[in-house]
Amino acid sequence: MVVHYKAFSRMVSKMSTFRFVFHDQLNREMTALSDLDPQHDVVVMIESREAFSRVPHHKKKLAFWLSCMRHFADELKQSGVQVLYKTLDEVGEQSLADVLQALCLTHRPERVIMTHPSDYEDWQTMLSLAKTAAWTMDMRADNRFLSSKEDFTAWASGKKQLRMEFYYREMRKRYQVLMDGDQPEGGKWNFDHDNRKPPVSGLTVPAPFVQEPDAITRTCCNLVETVFPEHFGDMAPFYFAVTREQALAALHLFVAERLVDFGKYQDAMLQGQPWMYHSHISFYLNVGLLLPMECIRAAEQAYRAQSAPLNAVEGFIRQIMGWREYVWGIYWLKMPDYAKCNGLNAQRDLPAFYWDAKTDMNCLRQCVDETKRHAYAHHIQRLMVLGNFALIAGLHPDAVNQWYHLVYADAYQWVELPNVTGMILFADGGYLGSKPYAASGAYINKMSDYCRGCAYDVKQKSGEKACPFNYLYWNFLQENQEKFIKNQRMRMIYATLAKMTDERRQQITQDSMRFFEKLALGEKV
Ligand code: FAD
Ligand code: SF4
Repeated sequence: MVVHYKAFSRMVSKMSTFRFVFHDQLNREMTALSDLDPQHDVVVMIESREAFSRVPHHKKKLAFWLSCMRHFADELKQSGVQVLYKTLDEVGEQSLADVLQALCLTHRPERVIMTHPSDYEDWQTMLSLAKTAAWTMDMRADNRFLSSKEDFTAWASGKKQLRMEFYYREMRKRYQVLMDGDQPEGGKWNFDHDNRKPPVSGLTVPAPFVQEPDAITRTCCNLVETVFPEHFGDMAPFYFAVTREQALAALHLFVAERLVDFGKYQDAMLQGQPWMYHSHISFYLNVGLLLPMECIRAAEQAYRAQSAPLNAVEGFIRQIMGWREYVWGIYWLKMPDYAKCNGLNAQRDLPAFYWDAKTDMNCLRQCVDETKRHAYAHHIQRLMVLGNFALIAGLHPDAVNQWYHLVYADAYQWVELPNVTGMILFADGGYLGSKPYAASGAYINKMSDYCRGCAYDVKQKSGEKACPFNYLYWNFLQENQEKFIKNQRMRMIYATLAKMTDERRQQITQDSMRFFEKLALGEKV
């Protein structure tokens, strides 16, 4: 049971230490709680409508946050920790900072200890709050990551362009993960050439982890339906883990049943299979229920016990130890300017089908529909279908960032922004990645079975029935020729474009303009 403010206020002694816990820092190992003294310290947690609706998050995500927070508060309480918890109802329209300040004025703690917030805006707010406060703020490093802001800044210093692969290698060496002495296990850092196979027919994907909602979760689902009825997404069925114990069970299920094929089918997409062989742990990592090193070690142990192959284990570890750390580092290195990047000057609005899935393009219809139902899509759907379209159709980074930030249960600005602005839109001028992830329909056809059920023909290059990805891809390359022609990794593509006849080029432009016109008029595409 969550302890509410009024019943609790008598228990809080003056001059105690507040341990403030953000909604995505739900782990006893967090630096804010590691040296907690249950006799004198008070954990403060606040459900903030203002923070929860800065962007109108998916309903499932909000229920997930609330349920995780309430379960965590209860666990602390049961272990004898004093918890001062403010619910959505009690907080009303007040901002998180105002509520925290009011609690401090009432209880007059000497110190407020917190782990560094993961969001730039929250960080700024906390810094300004502390400037005028009567208490001392002790803001500690965020140990949901393996490296610190300072480590990353030192590594990035003096480099014109950053590359994830090199940072990842540093991390492997530093933490002695998948190492054989000072060499990478298996003689190579990266086993991607064994990965990324197209799906084969008859693939039986193991069932994903499902957690039955308990009374707390059901209350949170109802609360979200009442307080945030207009928000995007389906609430039911709700199956996320909401405690650390449940999140660990989800991790172990992945290691036991899916990890073995994780690498091979990492990029494969199948209609009706939203989960594939992915781990589905990003929600838990990003809210603090799981910590990165325990996920990495669980996978490494499976390799050492010969229950998962090296290509799968290395591929999985690279996602967490490489990509996750890398995007977090870039976020803190480049904010606040990173949020304003629009290097390709993309200006189009987000088409309505990103919300209602009403499009004849089957790949996009499937990915949006699964996003709406699960608050999840796996990486290659986010990158090569939804992201690829956003890139080659020239959608404005602000609209695309907002969409990714609100629709996924694992989305926070620190992770969605570099993935959207850097990885999919190339809006940072190539700082995060070396070339844009643009592709024609052939890629989607190779890696999925979506094209079979599509109104468009993936083999046709032009005309009304042609797959829009086919002409939009070349149109994008034509329009951005000046920016990319000197990119070594795009030499071959531009050589192909150079060989096209003027007639073919004009056809590409005409098809693309017709498509964009329909989009602008709000017609179904
Ligand atoms: P798996 O495929 O099983 O990978 C294991 C773990 O690796 C993930 O749980 C995640 O923690 C980490 N990881 C993998 N790729 C990335 C990456 N590119 N950046 C950061 N971590 C990574 N991930 C988020 O956690 N939140 C986001 O808001 C988010 N937005 C994205 C937006 C775009 C446009 C793209 C292309 C990717 C985005 N990702 C985001 C990365 C990735 O798609 C998700 O982490 C992944 O799909 C989560 O599912 P999973 O746990 O099954 O991952
Ligand atoms: Fe997507 Fe084109 Fe295939 Fe249709 S034909 S599913 S639009 S890639």
